[in-house]
Amino acid sequence: MKKQILFLLVAVLAGSACATAKKPLVNRVLTAQEQAALTPDQVIAILDEGNERFVAGTVTSRDHSAQVRLAAEGQFPKAVVLSCLDSRVPVEDVFDRGIGDIFVARVAGNFENTDILGSMEFGTKVAGAKVILVMGHKDCGAVKATIDGAELGNITAMLENIKPAVEAVPGFDGARISSNAEFLHAVERANVSETVQRIRERSPILRDMESAGQIKIVGALYDMGTGRVELLD
Ligand SMILES: [Zn+2]
Repeated sequence: MKKQILFLLVAVLAGSACATAKKPLVNRVLTAQEQAALTPDQVIAILDEGNERFVAGTVTSRDHSAQVRLAAEGQFPKAVVLSCLDSRVPVEDVFDRGIGDIFVARVAGNFENTDILGSMEFGTKVAGAKVILVMGHKDCGAVKATIDGAELGNITAMLENIKPAVEAVPGFDGARISSNAEFLHAVERANVSETVQRIRERSPILRDMESAGQIKIVGALYDMGTGRVELLD
């Protein structure tokens, strides 16, 4: 009998230790009220904090099944992220975001076009997101191919969209080739800032929203080696 009580006690203690060590799963999604209360600067801070957790390996545990069911009733995401196609840039994970948290548009070389601009206008003007984040990344194959003048099928026309970035680094003192890491990095940065500028020029809706303080359009670079997202001015 004593043995049984002791066993029970050990089992209860082990169970409670286990329960305190395990963090609860996040099972909720952003509501319309929460989205409306956020400012663009708060959203940028939330993305930055999420990226810190990604870098530190302490991303939030999420109950995706529960989030799927809740998100089916509607979506109120915080931001629109335009990312490269690159499989090594898992956008939601990079910002520690879950289902219903962010819109993600992807195209090799993370440039805008009419369809992407329309998607951004939907994401902000219609659906209420507060930030547009153009996120390039280091070691970008699309940027390398553009510098190298690669030609193949529809890729040729696609790379035309990245060419202005190569031309936007005019005074570079060094070899203008993709194997020159310094030049490649300069073009990757220019590609992000050129895209941010063109979004403002080509979308009066987004430009006006930004002027009114309703949204912010910002650029960033993702570092493959560290997982860190560096916000650009
Ligand atoms: Zn890329």
